[in-house]
Amino acid sequence: MAARTYGGSCHCGAVAYTVEIDTDQALKCNCTICTKLGAVWAFAPKAKFNLNKGAGEQGDYLFNKKVLHHRFCTSCGIESYAEGTGPDGSPMVGINLRCVEAIDVDKLSPKPWDGRSQ
Ligand SMILES: [Zn+2]
Repeated sequence: MAARTYGGSCHCGAVAYTVEIDTDQALKCNCTICTKLGAVWAFAPKAKFNLNKGAGEQGDYLFNKKVLHHRFCTSCGIESYAEGTGPDGSPMVGINLRCVEAIDVDKLSPKPWDGRSQ
């Protein structure tokens, strides 16, 4: 499947975005935060991401190497995306596909990613 544009949001809707992603690239990660979050991720260049709402209503959680900014809504607590840089240093976003209403995560086959060992 080719990349498509989707809308995602936190639970309460304070944070909302549109993003172009390819769900064939979905990943599930075994790192400490993804285990607790239960997220399934797809990554996109930040240029394909547009934050429509909630720039001032997000927390910014960093851990381990502190390179990935975990963005969570300060009202409902849901982390709907994360920001970081790709291997070439370009800005990237990670989309929590569970926060994209048009995507049924149970119909995807996310590839395992060994984030715990990174
Ligand atoms: Zn919220």
